[in-house]
Amino acid sequence: MIDIQSIREDFPILAHTVYGKPLIYFDNAATTQKPRAVVEKITDGYYHVNANVHRGVHFLSQAATEAHEKARQVVQQFLNAASPNEIIFTRGTTEAINLIASSFTEACMEEGDEVILSAMEHHSNIVPWQLQATRRGIVLKVVPVNGKGELCMDTYRSLFSERTKLVSLTHVSNVLGSINPVKEIIREAHAHDVPVLLDGAQSVPHIKVDMQALDVDFYVFSGHKIYGPTGIGVLYGKEKWLDKLPPYQGGGEMIASVSFEKTVFNELPYKFEAGTPDYIGSTVLAEALHYVGKIGLDAIAAYEKELLQYATRQLKTIDGTRIFGEAAEKSSVLSFLIGTIHPYDMGMLLDRLGIAVRTGHHCAQPLMNALGIEGTVRASFSFYNTKEEIDAFIAGVRQVKEMF
Ligand code: PLP
Repeated sequence: MIDIQSIREDFPILAHTVYGKPLIYFDNAATTQKPRAVVEKITDGYYHVNANVHRGVHFLSQAATEAHEKARQVVQQFLNAASPNEIIFTRGTTEAINLIASSFTEACMEEGDEVILSAMEHHSNIVPWQLQATRRGIVLKVVPVNGKGELCMDTYRSLFSERTKLVSLTHVSNVLGSINPVKEIIREAHAHDVPVLLDGAQSVPHIKVDMQALDVDFYVFSGHKIYGPTGIGVLYGKEKWLDKLPPYQGGGEMIASVSFEKTVFNELPYKFEAGTPDYIGSTVLAEALHYVGKIGLDAIAAYEKELLQYATRQLKTIDGTRIFGEAAEKSSVLSFLIGTIHPYDMGMLLDRLGIAVRTGHHCAQPLMNALGIEGTVRASFSFYNTKEEIDAFIAGVRQVKEMF
C-alpha cells in the first residue's frame, strides 16, 4: 500500500508552486524528484566522510572506501547480481552503453558483425553503436514496432544470423511505456549463443528486476531516474563477460601497476572505473535504492498502474486524442497528441497551469519517424503522483484544446 500523504512529505519540491499554481510534476521519465533522505545523504557525505577512496591509509579514506563498496553491495542486492564484481559505477545509462559498445566491439566483433537494436531505442542505445559502425564496420539490425507499440517478435527472431554478436534493447520504452518481453528476448538470443544488453533506464524505477532470474548479460540504468543523484549510474555485467572485455578508459584506479613498458590492469570491478569514482554519488544512490525498497517495487508498480489506467481512461474522453503506445504490458508513461495541436504548444500552456510534461521527440527520433510524427506530449507518473493531479492535468488539456 502506498501512503501517499507521507510519501509526498518526503519530497519537499512537490509542495512548490509555479506561476502561483501547485506544481504537478509529470516529467518523471526524464528525471525523478529526490526524497529528503537522499538530499541529506549528499550533505552528510561531504560533511562527514569525504576523502578519496581506495588509496588512503587514513581513517576518513577508509570510511569513504567502506561506504562506497557498501553501496556497490546495495546495488548488487537490488539487482540480485551474483557478485559485487559485476557492478560497475558509471556516469549513467549513456556512459554504460558507450562502455559496452566500445569494449564489446573491440573484443568480440569484426567488420560485418551485427548487433540487433529496435526502433524504440533511446538515442543512447543507437548512437554509440553507430559510432562503432563507422569505426569498425559493424552492422545495425533493427526490430520494428507494431501499431500498439510492441516489438515485432517474429521479425526479431528472423534477424539472427551467424554474424549476430549482440542484442541491445530497451527493457521499457521511454516514449511508449511498452515493457518488452525480455525473458523471451534473452531466451531467443541465448539459443543463438548471443549475449543481451538491456537498457534499464525506464524499468528499474518501476518494476522489480533480477539479474540472475533474467539471465541477462549486461544491464544498465541511471541513478537520477530512480530518485537518486545525477551523474551516477550502473553497468551490470556477468563476470564472465566483463573479464573478457578490455578497459574503456585509462587512468588511476583501473590499474594494478604502471610502467612505461607495460601496464597491468586492475581486477573487476575497478578495471572499468578509471579515475576517482563518484563515491558520494554511489552512497547516495544506495540511499535512493533503500528508499524505493522500503516502499516496495510491487506496491509502486501496482499504484503506478492504477494512475496510468486512470489517466488513459480520462484522456480518451477528450475528442481528437491519439495515444502512442498501447502495449499489453505498459509502465506509467502516457504519450499523446490532441488533434493538430503542436506538442510544444500543449507543453507550454500546461506549464502555465503548473503542470510539467515533456514534449518533443524524447531522444527517440527513429521512433518518431516510424510513427510518422514529429513528437508527442508525454506525461510520466511516479508513486508520488495522485489521481487529483491527473484530474487537474485532464482539465488543463481540455482547457488548452478549447483555446485552439
Ligand atoms: N535510455 C532510456 C530508455 C532513457 O529513457 C534515457 C533517458 O531518458 C536514457 C537511456 C539515457 O539516460 P541518461 O541520460 O541518464 O544517461
